[in-house]
Amino acid sequence: MSTPTNKKIVILGGGESGIGTALLAQNKGYTVFLSDFGIIKEHYKALLLEHDIPFEDGGHTESLILDSDEVMKSPGISDDTPIVVKIIEKGITIVSEIEFAARYSDAKMICISGSNGKTTTTSLIYYILQQARLNVGLAGNIGRSLALQILENPKDYYVIELSSFQLDNMYDFRAHIAVLMNITPDHLDRYDFTMQRYVDSKMRIIQNQTPVDTFIYWAGDEHIAAELEKRAHTQASATTPSSQPAREGHPTLCPFCDSDFEQLGLSFSQIGNHNKRNAMAAYLAAKSLGVEETIIRQSLNTFPGVEHRLERVAEKGGVTYINDSKATNVDACFVALQAVDTPIVLIVGGKDKGNDYSVLHDIIRRKCRALVYLGADNQKLHDSFDHLGLPIADTHSMKDAVAACHQLAHAGDTVLLSPCCASFDLFRNMEDRGEQFKLQIHALP
Ligand code: ADP
Repeated sequence: MSTPTNKKIVILGGGESGIGTALLAQNKGYTVFLSDFGIIKEHYKALLLEHDIPFEDGGHTESLILDSDEVMKSPGISDDTPIVVKIIEKGITIVSEIEFAARYSDAKMICISGSNGKTTTTSLIYYILQQARLNVGLAGNIGRSLALQILENPKDYYVIELSSFQLDNMYDFRAHIAVLMNITPDHLDRYDFTMQRYVDSKMRIIQNQTPVDTFIYWAGDEHIAAELEKRAHTQASATTPSSQPAREGHPTLCPFCDSDFEQLGLSFSQIGNHNKRNAMAAYLAAKSLGVEETIIRQSLNTFPGVEHRLERVAEKGGVTYINDSKATNVDACFVALQAVDTPIVLIVGGKDKGNDYSVLHDIIRRKCRALVYLGADNQKLHDSFDHLGLPIADTHSMKDAVAACHQLAHAGDTVLLSPCCASFDLFRNMEDRGEQFKLQIHALP
């Protein structure tokens, strides 16, 4: 792409994606200004100063921002933020970091989206490609800024986790391989509480794909199936993962269904049926990149998993401890309970997001030995679960919760932290909650 002459770009948000974009844009000849309503971290400020990139934090200078030719907005900033409303009114194009950065790369882009399973599938594909010794980078919601990697250490392949917020500001970007795990209601507050708008956002992952590109998706998802029919694709009814020839102007469809994992005789280091889907998606992505079958199969078995997602922590006194701190909603807890085969002592609780716990009653009755409530206020948990008649412990710190589990669990059981709730009542974030859990377990006799 040619160097723009006197083009001005404003970067909204001074986090990982903002700083990377600022540096890449400056290198490509843009006049750059970065603005953050909050406070920019010191090490990012130092980078901006080092590169003589003007910036502000603690507020937005409207006149400077509205004087730009293009804006790169961090995905965390919503479209109804006052400054964004004004940018849109003025007709200035807003792009995401991935859209901007990809203009300056010829690498193969492998993009993963979905309401659930993004991080696991992205990490797994990245791991397989590393095992295959490809020159590969990890970007998007995880890893380092794509823009910075393209500037400093360009790769031949990028595995990119894409949230719907990133997809919203992507226009010309082309995913060579697009993976869409599922579409279930999420973040609807950012989509006028309209499911279709959220679905449309997710389906942007295949916009600009051509017949030489591949679209891998879970055939069991009703929204994806309906969207493909709208686009006049023949909906797949694959029992084995076979790619369907592309229709003119459309990507090659590569659906998978739940029986494919067993039919192919695959095994995976991570437990649970949902993880079999993640493994299938990664298998197909690696296959379509030409990675050797033996390397893919080996990698599936050696993948270390992702921290805080059904992470096996230790076995103590015959009891297995699993950290699933990332399970901040009822669905995630449900799949975790499904994934564990032994009797379970479940740690549940935290900042409730209006959860309806009744969907868990049946599976808790069938699989749990005891419940340990962990939150600043456990009243809703008492109201929701006490009537099941299981042994209960009421706790307000991780130390007490783990001590209670230690008392309640029998040899052969699993203690599962899969709290259904956000962590902010007692912890800094879900990572902090998971770390504290692990610390307490390691301290057990
Ligand atoms: P994301 O990045 O989309 O949040 P993660 O890979 O971090 O996804 O997984 C988050 C939680 O979502 C997991 O703890 C698990 O409960 C659930 N999950 C993971 N993969 C799937 C899947 N393929 N289908 C449904 N739920 C899943």
